[in-house]
Amino acid sequence: MSLQFAGGSDTLSATAGRCGDGRKSAEFRFYEELNDFLAPERRNTAFPVPIDRGRSVKDAIESVGVPHTEVDLVVVDGASVAFEHVLRGGERVAVYPVFERLDIAPVVHLRPSPLREMRFVLDSHLGKLARHLRMAGFDSLWHNDYGDEEIAALSVAQKRVVLTRDKGLLKRRAVERGHFVRETESEKQFLEVVRAFQLERLLRPFARCRMCNSVLLEVSRESVHGRVPEKVWNAQVGFTECPDCGRVFWKGAHYERLSRILGAAGAISSS
Ligand SMILES: [Zn+2]
Repeated sequence: MSLQFAGGSDTLSATAGRCGDGRKSAEFRFYEELNDFLAPERRNTAFPVPIDRGRSVKDAIESVGVPHTEVDLVVVDGASVAFEHVLRGGERVAVYPVFERLDIAPVVHLRPSPLREMRFVLDSHLGKLARHLRMAGFDSLWHNDYGDEEIAALSVAQKRVVLTRDKGLLKRRAVERGHFVRETESEKQFLEVVRAFQLERLLRPFARCRMCNSVLLEVSRESVHGRVPEKVWNAQVGFTECPDCGRVFWKGAHYERLSRILGAAGAISSS
């Protein structure tokens, strides 16, 4: 993928810099999945966005329905810019999604490089997704009565990526990192998140309690005798325990289930 407006399809028309009603405008083009947020006639094509007396890149992007948290790179007339960059009219603007793989340097990404340890906070509707992520080892905060303010605050304070199906939440000024979850079924949502954030190599299956997000501790087989079904105790070698809720885990049905999901993502080769 090129960062230039390569090719002829993006060349400015004779009326560049003005909307149909004569107002100043900049010509925008959105790439890849950012098109999901646009009206159908604006997808995969260049179109004018009104600028009036000057408008920040971020404001212009959100005015057409794209949450700024979905954007990683904005190129104005060939140079990457920050969200605060003010447009005056007549510019050509290319907008690229978060984590789009770019092999061209040097560009100014709008945030520091991806967090080494991905941490999430999920909206109240994504409880099943939160449990999948925890089982895959990712620190994932979720509560069924989290409000938008609380989620935004947790995101900022703890540098967590907001996962939500609420675009309004992603448009909050404070939220820097977020992902609009497209899928509606929890296993597909999990795969979507793994792919979107390229988490394949960061998976640590069964490192966390799926109920309370705590890091599980390995415990001896002897210590769980009588606390798990006798059949399980006889058949299993390794056990882990949640220091908070006391649940004991082993490689049973959940392991099989997660292994299958991860296998579908091509995330684990064999184990
Ligand atoms: Zn627990």
